[in-house]
Formats: sequence, structure tokens, C-alpha cells
Amino acid sequence: MHSIATALHTVNQQIIQAAEEFNRTAARIQLLAVSKTQPTAAILAAIDCGQRHFGENYLQEALTKIEALKEYPLEWHFIGALQSNKTRAIAEHFQWLHTLDSHKQAQRLNEQRPESLPPLNVCIQVNISEEPQKAGVNLAELTPLAETVAELPRLRLRGLMTLPAYSAHFEQQRRPFRQLHQAYDQLQSTGLTLDTLSMGMTDDMKAAIAEGSTMLRIGTAIFGRRPQKT
Ligand SMILES: *Cc1c(COP(=O)(O)O)cnc(C)c1O
Repeated sequence: MHSIATALHTVNQQIIQAAEEFNRTAARIQLLAVSKTQPTAAILAAIDCGQRHFGENYLQEALTKIEALKEYPLEWHFIGALQSNKTRAIAEHFQWLHTLDSHKQAQRLNEQRPESLPPLNVCIQVNISEEPQKAGVNLAELTPLAETVAELPRLRLRGLMTLPAYSAHFEQQRRPFRQLHQAYDQLQSTGLTLDTLSMGMTDDMKAAIAEGSTMLRIGTAIFGRRPQKT
């Protein structure tokens, strides 16, 4: 049987080890547990081990879980595809959005974020490997979008997110993460204050840590293989 407690402990140990190896402060690397397609019971098992940040991709499924777990002090991160008909629910129910990639969606979210809540934390998704099938802005579009988001009072620009092209090789995995980190440094040099590099998943976590990730989005290594979506 897959034990979530054991797996979560192992992942946290791996983060500490990789941080040591690459001269990073482990406390500056947050673990986002990606719970898409997993039942509420699996999330509860992670909560029992002290996990508080959860990432979800599918809005309806996420809203059900958020409601079921509302007594717990959790932070919910939307990391799925962003469509216009979803922005209102995201603005109302999530603390973070990792997949912003358009001015129009930024404006909508800003208008829809309830006044009773703090600003929505936002990462801009960058299509760093420039894959046509993937969401995200390219590097040329990044600065103008970041400037727009930074001006919106109901959004708080925290940083950048990427989902790079797949590679099984450590050095190849590092390259896109390094590029994202450079784009992040460049934005900061224009005067924006950022603190989040959302990069690294189960298969490229160590490469992401080596290149400065501050938020790992890990699903499979914590919860096991996902049931196939039909
Ligand atoms: C599913 C997903 C993850 C987690 O992937 P694993 O390989 O299971 O760790 C991370 N980020 C995004 C955007 C995802 O959709």
C-alpha cells in the first residue's frame, strides 16, 4: 500500500538533501502538494503530516475539496489551465494562481477578487521551452504582463512559474529552470519585488532546486500514480 506519510517524509528529506548539495536554504523551498485527481482522504493524510499548501488543476473537483476541508488552515493554489469562465471561482476560492498568461485574465481576476479577501497571489506562467501546445507567455511578452499585474491592486505578483519540455537528463533539466531564474532576476532589476520561482515536479525536482526553485509542485512522489482521467 502507498503510504502518503512515508512518501511525504521522503520528499521533504530529498528537498533538504538537495538544498545542502546546491547551497540552498531548505526553508526557502516550499512544497506544494499537487492533489489533482486524489480523494479528500489523501489530502487529509497529508494534512495530518503537517502539509498545508495544496495545488489543484481541475476547478470543479478543487471546489468540492476546498469546501470539504474548509475547517483546516490550508492554502489552495490553482495550477491548471486558466479559462475565462473559471476566473471568478478562482478569484473567490483560491489564495494563489500559478498559470496567469494574459492581460485580459489579469484584469478579470482583479475585478473579481472579493474585497473581503487579501489580494490574490499570482505567478505568471512562462512557456520557457516555447512549445506550441503549452500555455504561458514567451520571454518577450513577460515584462509588459508583469508590469500590468504589478499595477492591479487586487492581485499580488509573486513570481514566475514554468512547465518545461520533458527531459530525463539532469543537465538538460537544469537549462530551462536557469533561464526562468534569469528572467526572474531581470524583472527584479526593473524594480519589481518578487519572491517565488514555481518550478520543479516529481521528475525534475532536484534540477529545479539546483536552479533556485522556491516552490516545488509535487504530485506523484507524494500521492503515488494518479488514477487515469477518463
Ligand atoms: C500535475 C502537475 C504537477 C505535479 O506533477 P507530478 O509529476 O505528479 O509531480 C505539477 N505542476 C503542474 C502544473 C501539474 O499540472
